[in-house]
Amino acid sequence: MRERIVMRSSWRIGSIREIPLYIDPSWLAILFFITALNAGEVQAQLVGDNNPPWLSSFMGFLMALLLFASVLLHELGHSLVALSQGIKVNSITLFLFGGMASIERESDTPLESLKIAVAGPAVSLVLFASLSLLGLAVENLPLWHYVLMDVAQINFILALFNVIPGMPLDGGQILKSVVWHVTGDRLKGLRWASRSGQIMGCIGISLGLFLVLLTGDLGGAWLSFIGWFIFKNASAYNRLSRLQEGLLSLTAASVMTKDFKILKADRSLEEFTREYIINPHKGAYYAVSGGRYRGLVRPSDLQSIERGQWAGKTLLDIVHPLDTIVSVPENAPLFQVIGVLDTITDKKLTVLSPAGAVAGVIDKADIVKTIAAKYDIVLQEGEIDRIKSGGQYPSYLPLSAVAKTLTKK
Ligand SMILES: [Zn+2]
Repeated sequence: MRERIVMRSSWRIGSIREIPLYIDPSWLAILFFITALNAGEVQAQLVGDNNPPWLSSFMGFLMALLLFASVLLHELGHSLVALSQGIKVNSITLFLFGGMASIERESDTPLESLKIAVAGPAVSLVLFASLSLLGLAVENLPLWHYVLMDVAQINFILALFNVIPGMPLDGGQILKSVVWHVTGDRLKGLRWASRSGQIMGCIGISLGLFLVLLTGDLGGAWLSFIGWFIFKNASAYNRLSRLQEGLLSLTAASVMTKDFKILKADRSLEEFTREYIINPHKGAYYAVSGGRYRGLVRPSDLQSIERGQWAGKTLLDIVHPLDTIVSVPENAPLFQVIGVLDTITDKKLTVLSPAGAVAGVIDKADIVKTIAAKYDIVLQEGEIDRIKSGGQYPSYLPLSAVAKTLTKK
């Protein structure tokens, strides 16, 4: 499994090749459960043998740790291939349903993306083969034979389960890469794979419920639970792909506002202070003269000029010419606008027309408003005001992170 969203409240237990390793508390429950389950089975296998009573618990625990190592190696498979493509791996987390490697960005080509996706199940298959061979080699030691064959089998199931073709499973990543390769459209691949994941999740939920109702077997509840997890994550990927499409298709022109003021460049700083600093305008100020934009006026610059000089100096003395400030063209895609906005200290980003005039300004709140309107997202009360006054994007719209996924490195 591979996931971008980093889980919170996980414990860091170390690192491998500078990749931080986390364990989610839910994994401890699994450790305990699997130890107990295996201990029971080992006990059953050992009937008649003269083994000490603690041995079955110990073997059960050992099997749980081997499972832990198997999942970890599976995730390392994904991670090492990602690293070989120059993609940073943010973390590996082990949790209730297995493991996740969180990688920083998408591969550049569908083939590279496919390689990362396949690497995990390939590791599991190799583990299955080698543990099986090892198990066969120690057939005369029943206990070790049992342990090795059992862990081998688990690795086989791990490989099979993961290639189910739907996000967030590896099979979903494979499907995405294939559709991406065929259509040349990465987002179409992601959309298909996340839709497929939603369908797989629904099948899992229904099949599980069906089993519970029909046979009373509580294993069905587990299947439903896994189905629900897949559905939930596939839906998140679906939202992500839609958001990514929006950030690619919307442009600076569709987000910008006219929330700026044009001032005569020959105004003295004294006049400017009297009129605007005392009753400040929330947008941006630009100075013009002779029908031309002279530049951006930053009121904060006044602090560096002695008060006594305010009457003698004009806005022209403090303007920042448009070609020296950070700006975007009207046709800049929104993901680029978000990236640029993150690098500047001004709240408003200047949008320039092809003629080099100020076409509009954009702040974070303008972007959130446009996205919310496009996707029918209900914003929390006061959210826009909070963002206007320098707040970050809301946690349910992680626009900076999503924009980064679209930026080619
Ligand atoms: Zn995987």
